[in-house]
Amino acid sequence: MTDRPADKDDEASAPADEASAAADEASAAADEASAAADEASAAADEAAAAAAEASAPAGKQQVKDVGRIHGDASAAADEASAAADEASAAADEAPVSTEASLAAGEAPALAEGHVHVSGIRELPLVALRETVIFPEMIVPLQVGRDKSVAALNAAVAASGPIALVTQRQAEREEIEDPSELYNVGTLAKIAQVVQLQDGTVRAIVQGQSRLRVVGFVQTSPYIIVKVEEIADVTPEGIEVQALMRSVQAQIEQYVANGAPVPPEAAVAARNITEPGLLADMVAYSPDLSTEQRMELLATTNVVERLKIVSTFLGRQVEILELKGKIQSEVKSEMDKTQREYILREQLKAIQRELGEDDPQQAEINELREKVEAAGMTEEVKARALKEVDRMSRIPSASPEVGVIRTYVDWLVALPWNVSTTDNLDIKSAAKILDEDHYGLEKIKERILEYLAVRSLAETLRSPILAFVGPPGVGKTSLGKSIARAMGRKFVRMSLGGIHDEAEIRGHRRTYIGALPGRIIQNIKTAGSNNPVFMLDEVDKIGMDFRGDPSSALLEVLDPEQNNTFQDNYLEVPFDLTKVLFITTANLLDPIPPPLRDRMEVVQLPGYTEQEKIEIGKRFLIPKQMKNHGLTDKHIAITDEAMVELVRSYTHEAGVRNLEREIANAMRKVARAVAEGRKRKTIVDVKKLAEYLGPQRFEYGELESEDQIGAATGLVVTEVGGDVIAIEVTLMEGKEDFILTGQLGEVMRESARAGLSWIRAHASQLGIKREVFEKNTLHIHVPAGGIPKDGPSAGITMTLAMVSAFTGIPVRKDAAMTGEITLRGRVLPIGGLKSKILAAHLAGARMIILPKKNEKDLRDIPDEILKQIKLVTVENMEQVLETALRRKPVPLPTEPPKTTADVKDTEPEPEAETPVRPHFPPPVDQPPAMAREATASPAVMEY
Ligand code: ADP
Repeated sequence: MTDRPADKDDEASAPADEASAAADEASAAADEASAAADEASAAADEAAAAAAEASAPAGKQQVKDVGRIHGDASAAADEASAAADEASAAADEAPVSTEASLAAGEAPALAEGHVHVSGIRELPLVALRETVIFPEMIVPLQVGRDKSVAALNAAVAASGPIALVTQRQAEREEIEDPSELYNVGTLAKIAQVVQLQDGTVRAIVQGQSRLRVVGFVQTSPYIIVKVEEIADVTPEGIEVQALMRSVQAQIEQYVANGAPVPPEAAVAARNITEPGLLADMVAYSPDLSTEQRMELLATTNVVERLKIVSTFLGRQVEILELKGKIQSEVKSEMDKTQREYILREQLKAIQRELGEDDPQQAEINELREKVEAAGMTEEVKARALKEVDRMSRIPSASPEVGVIRTYVDWLVALPWNVSTTDNLDIKSAAKILDEDHYGLEKIKERILEYLAVRSLAETLRSPILAFVGPPGVGKTSLGKSIARAMGRKFVRMSLGGIHDEAEIRGHRRTYIGALPGRIIQNIKTAGSNNPVFMLDEVDKIGMDFRGDPSSALLEVLDPEQNNTFQDNYLEVPFDLTKVLFITTANLLDPIPPPLRDRMEVVQLPGYTEQEKIEIGKRFLIPKQMKNHGLTDKHIAITDEAMVELVRSYTHEAGVRNLEREIANAMRKVARAVAEGRKRKTIVDVKKLAEYLGPQRFEYGELESEDQIGAATGLVVTEVGGDVIAIEVTLMEGKEDFILTGQLGEVMRESARAGLSWIRAHASQLGIKREVFEKNTLHIHVPAGGIPKDGPSAGITMTLAMVSAFTGIPVRKDAAMTGEITLRGRVLPIGGLKSKILAAHLAGARMIILPKKNEKDLRDIPDEILKQIKLVTVENMEQVLETALRRKPVPLPTEPPKTTADVKDTEPEPEAETPVRPHFPPPVDQPPAMAREATASPAVMEY
């Protein structure tokens, strides 16, 4: 029940066709005369009736007609408006035409007695809800309210126009008072009225002009109002033109930006020449509110109206543009996300196909977490994170990912801030050292002092300990004990045979398969940054074109440098200051001097027989029993068997072979036990022979008889002290002497010096000059092809030569060591304890040694001192006196000529010995001789 425009335009325009025809006729009639008015109204009536007839029958017929008409709808509307134009133009031109038109419209009103006074007319009114009808608008109206239907019918009956005024409150049913309506409305011509079955009416109306409601005439049965028409005020001038153009352009823009109006609207607007009409045309836009429409309708000044329209259009265009922009942004945003999503999905699909379910990201995240947790210094952490970032940017298939991964893993795995807590309780450390080792009192003391200093001054840069001694003397196990005593981790690395600096410092990462050096590797193994780090065999470190490992090692060991130890692979510094380095070596001499400088050397020369037996009983046997799963119930080794093991089955400075032989015996017993032997096995000397075979070494290798031209020297080799026989024979020949037995340069010189001394003292020694001229001396130092060098065989060689020249035998039980000078002085040597131990083992009864070595005798165990006679000597005469069975008989006559030669080479006149007829020589030595007293140890010393 509303008075609203019908939904469909075509329905509205169909009857308009006929309506325009009627209007044509009406205006034609008006042109002629007022008399014609009747005819015109009759014609209009006819037309309305025809239209009513056409639309009245509901059903197919009507639909058909509407369809037929549809094609011409807009043309018809145009015509209709053209006709209306003409009509109004005609009305404007002639005064009669007004009358005529009035006559045409007012006929019913007049007939009903309504009066038209001074432009005020009385018209039936239809109140509109939410609709504003403008002049020239052809609109279908659905009319439902009784009063509206009645008003419409009255207007139709009178063939007159109708007042269409919008009500202020749309929902109001009954209009009683003018105040309930807007006071401006539209005078409209009714083009067609169709009564519908439900009692409502559908009418097609065409706006004619604006009107103002002056007052109500009646409100029942339908409303009749007094209205006055109001005309547009159109100022002349270019402003209107400009406004028109601007509005036209705006309409075009409005349409182009997607306004909810038919696209033809823009073309229509272009063709409109009347400014008021152009403004009114905008009222078609559904974007306008009722209030806005009313404002438009109420504005009679065309310029004002155009301005309102222009503002409205400008705003709408802006809104539409913004809307378009927002929409396109939303779309492009959506497009981007969509695109990425699709690509990602595709990537996943590809990875799934390839069996790589994006593990890289997970791996990278995990790595990053590890780096954060590794406790690195800021510098290192930054480095590690940089690498992780780099890794995340590289495709996972690239081999470089693996390289970076390994690198970061290394960084993560290092104990940057993991330290074990030191136990620096010296008493408990002493206990642990005693628990693990027999004897070695001095060494243990030294170690404890070292630990004490460290505990008092942790920052103090104590020198590195170096354990020097033959194999099997407990160097490694001492290191382990130190670690145990301090509660530190223990790691060990051998430097033997290292030539390449990279072994210590690592390879640069540019090398394929590069790794950190062994220092860093071992630190990783230790898992703490303060382990006890044992560097074995520093004396065997090599050097060649691949670099100098000892200088790299220096960087490791030097407390000044090792706080920023730079590994080539890591590329970041690692602090080694907390590491307790201990080095081991078999010999001191080959250790590169710069390294030796930084070391605190602790000598472990080897064990005496008794010490070995004790170590065997207290440590090695229990250890091996445990290793072999044996207990006291299964086995016991007799004391005699232990002595036999030490004397006849091993020959060494340490106890490594002893331990091995004990293990051998244990194995045999373990097998017997496994085979079911119940009784305890007592391993005695007999059983030993059964288990280990015949004795391997003869106790006491010294010559069994006194020998002419042979003497026993003492030697220090890598495996400890040893005894060795030096043999000399005389044979005819021109040469002075031949030396064989892999002797080094120093030894050769020693031999030559000795020979010169003999020649210088030939007459005292009872050697004729011709002997030297006719004979060649052959000196041979046997012992398994081991290269030998060093000066300490000087006195031994000289003694053997004297014995060979004079034919006086050398005592079989004497062993000796000492360097000889040209003038027959005996200089001190190194490695004395090792040598004495070896001489003892070999069964020597007497040892001749340089007097200057007396101070070293403090270290010699008492048990040895009891068994061996130690003779200290200062010169060669004393050696001969001690070791030769008889004194040489000097030649009776004139001094030998050769002394002249000797004089030449011996500038000191005091050294001339020919005048000394007797042993021993003068006790007081000239000061010049003391200057020669230098000795240094060597690879092998005689
Ligand atoms: P090195 O490192 O000097 O070659 P090791 O430390 O390997 O010698 O010692 C070899 C074996 O001898 C080890 O089983 C060790 O425990 C044992 N050993 C060496 N000296 C002693 C000692 N004084 N007391 C107890 N056992 C010892």
